[in-house]
Amino acid sequence: MSLLLEVLNLRKSFAASRTFLAPRRYVRAIDTVSLSVSRGEAVGLIGESGCGKSTVARCVMGLVRPDAGEILLEGQSLAEARRRRSARTHERLQMVFQDPYSSLNPRMSIEAILMEPYRIQGKLSAREMKERILRLLEEVSLPADSLSKYPQHFSGGQRQRISIARALALQPSLIVADEPLSALDVSVQAQIILLMKKLQLTHDLGFLLISHDLGVVRNFCTRVAVMYLGRIVEEGSARQVLDEPRHPYTVALREASLPPDISARDRLNKIQGEIPSALEPPTGCHFHPRCPHAMARCKVEVPGWSVLTDGRRVACHLYPQDAAVAAKIDQG
Ligand code: SF4
Repeated sequence: MSLLLEVLNLRKSFAASRTFLAPRRYVRAIDTVSLSVSRGEAVGLIGESGCGKSTVARCVMGLVRPDAGEILLEGQSLAEARRRRSARTHERLQMVFQDPYSSLNPRMSIEAILMEPYRIQGKLSAREMKERILRLLEEVSLPADSLSKYPQHFSGGQRQRISIARALALQPSLIVADEPLSALDVSVQAQIILLMKKLQLTHDLGFLLISHDLGVVRNFCTRVAVMYLGRIVEEGSARQVLDEPRHPYTVALREASLPPDISARDRLNKIQGEIPSALEPPTGCHFHPRCPHAMARCKVEVPGWSVLTDGRRVACHLYPQDAAVAAKIDQG
């Protein structure tokens, strides 16, 4: 599989609101993140709310300007903000948003919504545009008479199908989907996952799926990266990371997603405390105040990368660090 998206050593902080005369403080939303998506691959970026995963998505889309690091799409830099990016970049990179209720303009018909990307592109005749949008509707399994209707005539799942059709209009190579299923019922989620899988195969699409839902990621993604307080702590195949997690935080996340039986509650009790503030993240390993395996060095040393025998990478002092591999990963 050829590389589609490369995110290298990305960093982003936001200024926090401050009181009069108090020094400005910063929330470190992304504290050095590197990841990649290949053509036809679905990669999940998971973690609790506030871990920085949506900021990664917004940096990739050019909605937020990173402080440092590089983002490459098919080898070309995406350094510019969204409005300065070329038309070709907009075509290749599309986004599906979390809320299908607010992401579609209620004053535009479905025909106008789906036509819009083609009108902006200005390459097709009216007849060609109509043919394309009918084909898009067919691809997302919506009837042709949907064109004359408005978003409020559709259910949440149908609206997300329309959002996906609009994202597909210009034949992108990569779709960034930020919690696209979290506003939908579980039964509808399963249908949208099936649809995204079908489209991924048909169009050889790469997906970067941002989600806090391990079940959704398990069903859709082949590879998973786990984020905690702005850093990726574990990355590998979805099966490895979600079925046999190695990083203590991934273990905690997995256990929190299990059915609430007695044994699961017992295991959860091992994870202590609240998620720390990104304004003052813990020193060393950010997870050390909650980690049942924390050692003295965890409070002072940021763990480097260890590549395990099954190929996954883990940032944790429990695993011997391969200095050469860690340096290579840190440099991208
Ligand atoms: Fe726990 Fe230490 Fe590993 Fe962090 S580095 S996850 S504190 S064992």
